[in-house]
Amino acid sequence: MSKEESSPFGGGGGLYIHIPFCKQACHYCDFHFSTNLKKKVEMLEALSKELVLRKAEFSEEVVETIYFGGGTPSVLNTSEILKLVHTIYENYEVVPDAEITLEANPDDLSESKINELAQGPINRLSIGIQSFYEEDLKLMNRAHNALEAELCIREAKKHFNNISIDLIYGIPNMSNERWKSNIEKALSFKIPHISSYALTVEPKTALAKFVEKGLIAPVRDEVAQEHFNILNETLTSIGYAGYEISNFARPGYFSKNNSAYWQQKKYLGIGPSAHSFDGDRRGWNINNNSNYIKAITDGKLPMEIEMLSKTDKYNEYVMTGLRTIWGVSLSRIAAEFGKKYEEYLMLQAEKHIQEHLLYIDDESLLTTKKGKFLADGIAADLFMLNL
Ligand code: SF4
Repeated sequence: MSKEESSPFGGGGGLYIHIPFCKQACHYCDFHFSTNLKKKVEMLEALSKELVLRKAEFSEEVVETIYFGGGTPSVLNTSEILKLVHTIYENYEVVPDAEITLEANPDDLSESKINELAQGPINRLSIGIQSFYEEDLKLMNRAHNALEAELCIREAKKHFNNISIDLIYGIPNMSNERWKSNIEKALSFKIPHISSYALTVEPKTALAKFVEKGLIAPVRDEVAQEHFNILNETLTSIGYAGYEISNFARPGYFSKNNSAYWQQKKYLGIGPSAHSFDGDRRGWNINNNSNYIKAITDGKLPMEIEMLSKTDKYNEYVMTGLRTIWGVSLSRIAAEFGKKYEEYLMLQAEKHIQEHLLYIDDESLLTTKKGKFLADGIAADLFMLNL
């Protein structure tokens, strides 16, 4: 697969809509969400209003990808989702073949809900499976069980061709065999896109407390690395491209939304805690549902904005580039940041090239198989300080 083929994103931009509600809190999660759905109607009105308030920011771009993330967008009923999509189409220019993804949890994906969704404009489902094993799902406090995980995939496949599932590895007590069997189960459904993440213990989560009290074994880096190697080896050997550390896809199924982030394309993040990026500035909305609704109702944007320096942009490009199949283009570094940055990059990269963690191919700096899992740490070594 060529890198050109694998980079589907053109000159447009992306819209991300954050739905900040979940049925219950997964033990490991530190995303912004509330399990209290009382403000759902007000929230939906506020999201629509923010879409309208900010449309001028996209007056020059077409929308190529729309992503409903969260939280759990599938807690919304189909007509609520369609109303948001309608607001987008009324206020933005959306390309005819836009990728429109809905993140969904298995317990929300009944036969009738999938059927309804398939009648509308949603053309990609990203399903939070995480594991096909009851024991893992219980440990993580997921709202679905192993049977629901399988049933919803079977049903979704009848109506959707573009499906991604999330799987988590490195779970305490998860043997290599169980991890392999999770991957095999996913492959048995012929899922074209798999996103897979190492379980991390984020501060202030229930998981952090359980680990602290010794109720759950700590998450170990060596296990996560071993599980990553199994994942990478298994999927790439049968034709999936690991186009980013956590994302694997069959040809033609790279997510346009994900690729947009990693290629520094413009995107608007709508909803509490959502982030936006316009090439020079990064913005993030307040992560409190009530305050978000109040501000938007008053016609104000509850957003903080940071202007990125040249060095910030260099660091971000190195960080994301090393995680992807496209790597860090040396000619882009020279053209966008100047010779000084290119020389610094190569100087810092030398040690990692000697250790076979990085290599240069076709003018791009890339991680080797051995270096892939370590990309974030290697990137930190290549960062420049803001002086
Ligand atoms: S469903 Fe997703 S967003 Fe909600 S608590 Fe679980 S992991 Fe977090």
